[in-house]
Amino acid sequence: MTTTQIPGFKKRLSLRFKPFELQLKYPFNLASSSRTTTPVLLTELEFDGVVGYGEASMPPYLGESHESVTRFLQQLDLGQFQDPFQLEEILAYVDGCAEGNTAAKASVDIALHDLLGKLQGEACYASWKLRAADAPETSFTIGIDDESIVRQKVTEAAAYKILKIKLGRSNDKEMIQVVRSMTDVPISVDANQGWTDRIAALEMTCWLKEQGVLFVEQPMAKDDLDSTAWLTENSPLPIIADESIQRLSDLEKLKGVFSGVNIKLMKCSGLNEARKLIDRARALDMKVMIGCMTETSCAVSAAAQLSPLVDWADLDGNLLITNDPFEGVRVEDGKIKLPADPGIGVRLRQ
Ligand code: MG
Repeated sequence: MTTTQIPGFKKRLSLRFKPFELQLKYPFNLASSSRTTTPVLLTELEFDGVVGYGEASMPPYLGESHESVTRFLQQLDLGQFQDPFQLEEILAYVDGCAEGNTAAKASVDIALHDLLGKLQGEACYASWKLRAADAPETSFTIGIDDESIVRQKVTEAAAYKILKIKLGRSNDKEMIQVVRSMTDVPISVDANQGWTDRIAALEMTCWLKEQGVLFVEQPMAKDDLDSTAWLTENSPLPIIADESIQRLSDLEKLKGVFSGVNIKLMKCSGLNEARKLIDRARALDMKVMIGCMTETSCAVSAAAQLSPLVDWADLDGNLLITNDPFEGVRVEDGKIKLPADPGIGVRLRQ
C-alpha cells in the first residue's frame, strides 16, 4: 500500500490506498464500447486506530485511471485535520485540490463517512434518520448481447423484481422482445446516449410503454438538451439523466429537460454531495434514481445508505463482478437489505 501519512502524530487522519482490478462476469457491452475489467482503487482512512473503507471506480468514460487517482490522492494532506468530524471542511479541501477527479474524491468521501459512522457506532443511513425498511428494490442490469446470452442473463436474474435493459444499438426491440418472452417484471431501459433522432426516440418510448417499461435513461447525447427536452415533454415515460449530470452544479439546467436524475457517487464526488443533489432534485420536483458503476460492495454499500430516499435504485455493480473483496449490502427477494453495522456496513471477506 502507498501511504501518505505524517509520522509522529497519533490522532491524525491518515490515508492509504491501493489499485485493484475488478473482473466482470460478462463483458460489459454498451452502445459504443465493450470491456471485461474495471479498474478501481481501494482506500483506507484511519483515525485513532479506527479504519474507514472507500473506493474509486474508474469506468473509461469518466476519464480517470489508476494513475490519475493515485496522483490525486498522493497530493492530499489529510494529516492537517485533527478532527475527522470536520466533514464539510475536509471534503471542501479535497474538492479544491484539483478540478474533476470525482471518483478519487469519492474514495475519500466514502472512507470518511465509514470512519465517522464507526467512530459514532452508527450506520450512515441511521445517522441521517433514514430507515432500512424504506430501502427500495434494486434493478439488475442486462447488458447488450446476443440472444442466447440475454436469455441466460434473464434466467440468472430471476430473483430481481426490476430488470434494467441496456439499449442503443440497432436491435433494441429484439432485446426487449427476448426479455418479455421470458418475464413480466417491470423493466427500465438505458440507451446510454445511443438514440440520435428525436422522432424515432419518441416512437420507441411509446412502444416501450406498451412493453411495461418504467422509464428511459439517457436516450440521447448528453449535450443534446434541446432534443431531450422535446422528448421529455412528449414522452409517455419519464426520461432520466445519467451522462448529462455529474455534479450538483449541473442540476439546475436540467430542470424541464429531464424528468429526473441518476445520481452516482463516482460522478458527484461522494455521499456528501449526493445528499445535496437529492435534496435539490426534490426541490425542483424531479425524480431521483441512485446508480453505480461496476464497483465492489464497498462503494455499492455506501450508495445504498441513500437508497431509502430515492424513487429507483440501480445498485447491482457488485453483483456483476467475480472478485469482490468486501461484503456488505445484500439483495433479498429483489430488495436492498441495508446492514445494521456502523458506517457503510462493509467488512473484508475472509
Ligand atoms: Mg446509465
